[in-house]
Amino acid sequence: MHDATRSVHHPAVNEEGYASLTVPTHRASTIVYPDAASFFARKHRGFDGYTYGLHGTPTHRTLEAQLTALHGGVRTVLVPSGQAAVTIVLLSVLLPGEKVLIPDQVYQPVRSFCEEYLKPRGIDYGVYDPLIGAGIADLIDDKVKLVWVESPGSNTMEVQDIPAIVKAAKAKGVLVGCDNTWATPLIFKPLAHGVDFACEALTKYVGGHSDLLLGSITVADLGLREQLKVTLRGLGVGVSPDEVQLALRGLETLALRLAHMGKVSEDFARRLARSPAVESVLHPALPSCPGHEFWKRDMGRSSGVFSIVLRPVPHALLEQALSALRVFAIGASWGGTRSLIAPLAPEGERTVVPWPHQGPSLRISIGLEDQEDLWNDLDALLIALEQPAAAKVA
Ligand SMILES: *Cc1c(COP(=O)(O)O)cnc(C)c1O
Repeated sequence: MHDATRSVHHPAVNEEGYASLTVPTHRASTIVYPDAASFFARKHRGFDGYTYGLHGTPTHRTLEAQLTALHGGVRTVLVPSGQAAVTIVLLSVLLPGEKVLIPDQVYQPVRSFCEEYLKPRGIDYGVYDPLIGAGIADLIDDKVKLVWVESPGSNTMEVQDIPAIVKAAKAKGVLVGCDNTWATPLIFKPLAHGVDFACEALTKYVGGHSDLLLGSITVADLGLREQLKVTLRGLGVGVSPDEVQLALRGLETLALRLAHMGKVSEDFARRLARSPAVESVLHPALPSCPGHEFWKRDMGRSSGVFSIVLRPVPHALLEQALSALRVFAIGASWGGTRSLIAPLAPEGERTVVPWPHQGPSLRISIGLEDQEDLWNDLDALLIALEQPAAAKVA
């Protein structure tokens, strides 16, 4: 054997006695076969086997299996983002002439996808009141093939009556998909409530460090998994084992991070509700949050994201007060170690249920900083926002 050959053939090494606690990052495009017969028979390896790097390596299979176990499902597929988790479900289920129902508080890019991508291709969508519950039955006509739920909803945090929606959908033979990003499978397991597709933006809490983009779809039915995999194969969509490895690492601390963030977010939500600068606190654990009773019945625990509606304040004052924050960072895509605040504009996004508030709203994502440092930062924000009211009194 010459050096050029020796350079590309890796020697086998002794792995006996080697055991580690980490999952190896298997990078691969080509998968090689021990003989010609197994290459000819590769089709029969199925979606669980290994045929091409795009369709997964043992690194991918490990995260898939771990999420499947957490969700109490049958299989999980990984996709490049949380947004892709939603769109891949829609693309795998819906044909031209058919229709999906989405809630009014849905993650905004999902609504855009329905309007800008699906609609021109003959796939219709309808928007419903997130608190519709069993009333969804009236909207399910022969064209509807999928009902989408997101609970609590993005930004405005409405908690949906998922069991009632699932019951109405099942009665009409319609599939249900759920964006479970806020709760994660540690707080809510959609499949246990009859949901067909449990979707997560792993980008958020599972990743946990603001450094990866990844999504997952977990199902309890092999047929649905096949449809998803056929769609992904056709589109040529796969994910990097490096992202998967980061998600596997994040998953190890998810329970502790979530428990801490949930405790702090509930505590802060109650304290914020007492501030004269705050009109309403939209935290699922508080009765002021629409759908709070469903949170209490179906979840009972919190993660770290919630929103507040402020009393009306001059925009310049709000900008000034937000820019003065020292511990919170201003930004979206929550779930990491850093606490975030993001100004919202829900009034422009609603088409079914008009937004009832006048003042500005803010989304707060609790991270892992010291609780007192965080509260001092929020307190300074509240005091700054109370200024005009105080001035008026004086
Ligand atoms: C962030 C988010 C998504 C999208 O996740 P990406 O990985 O950023 O695409 C979807 N749904 C919800 C509820 C989210 O918060």
